Amino acid sequence: MKKRIIGIMGAMPEEIEGVVSLLNNCTSSSMGKRTYFSGQINGIDTVVVFSRWGKVAAATTVTTLIHEFKITELWFTGVAGAIDPDLKIGDVVVGKRLIQHDMDARPLMNQHEIPLLNKTYFESDASLLDMASKSVATIFKNSSLNSAIDAEDLNRFSITKPQLFIGDIASGDQFFSSNEQKQNLNNQLPDVLCVEMEGAAVAQVCYEYAIPFCIIRTISDAADANSHLDFPSFVKKIASKYATEIIKDIYSQF
Ligand code: SAH
Repeated sequence: MKKRIIGIMGAMPEEIEGVVSLLNNCTSSSMGKRTYFSGQINGIDTVVVFSRWGKVAAATTVTTLIHEFKITELWFTGVAGAIDPDLKIGDVVVGKRLIQHDMDARPLMNQHEIPLLNKTYFESDASLLDMASKSVATIFKNSSLNSAIDAEDLNRFSITKPQLFIGDIASGDQFFSSNEQKQNLNNQLPDVLCVEMEGAAVAQVCYEYAIPFCIIRTISDAADANSHLDFPSFVKKIASKYATEIIKDIYSQF
């Protein structure tokens, strides 16, 4: 059996800091404006890296993890804007299917279909998805976040009873910050729970290289006119803690 080497990508520099601090025997190497942190978590070889933003950047980062670091599975944590009206800031979406909402090669093929792959959705690995969902549910049930995050910060974002959602995530090279953008996506793809800028690109590369992956997103904003206001402090105060707690719990299942 191939040796297990886990790749972890985070969509924010603040987010990977906490995860990097879990690494034992941590060393780092820089390539193409990215710093890859290698070490072990619970004895398992792990490489942690900031994805950078957007589909091209994230695809490049995951390709390097596959070629240079020989990862055998990929976990992605990041933040996202809510599209489904049931989602609140602080909820977590584990992506079952990933779609590129800005892919449009009509009339050559259907809207959202990925050229040459004859595919529109990429599916997270079923067992990784199950583990991620269990971890998020455990963290919410045990209120682990309450000890990791200041009560004042949780109050500020009205995070009282965060919920786990499992479903579709849409990615594209746009930051959603208007009701019009949000409504437009909701009309086109009514099953999409949240929107971000990397997940479906990472999913495509992992699919092409047959690397099992799972995309986990914490809701940072409502993808509307207020999204840019909520965003920076949420990432610093909240999302970074979510990422660390979720990754810690996932490793406890290995
Ligand atoms: N911190 C940067 C912006 C980062 S880009 C700045 O302030 O300049 C936004 C990141 O958050 C991406 O990783 C994207 O995947 C995610 N994201 C969060 N909310 C989003 C939204 N409303 N629309 C698109 N991407 C969003």
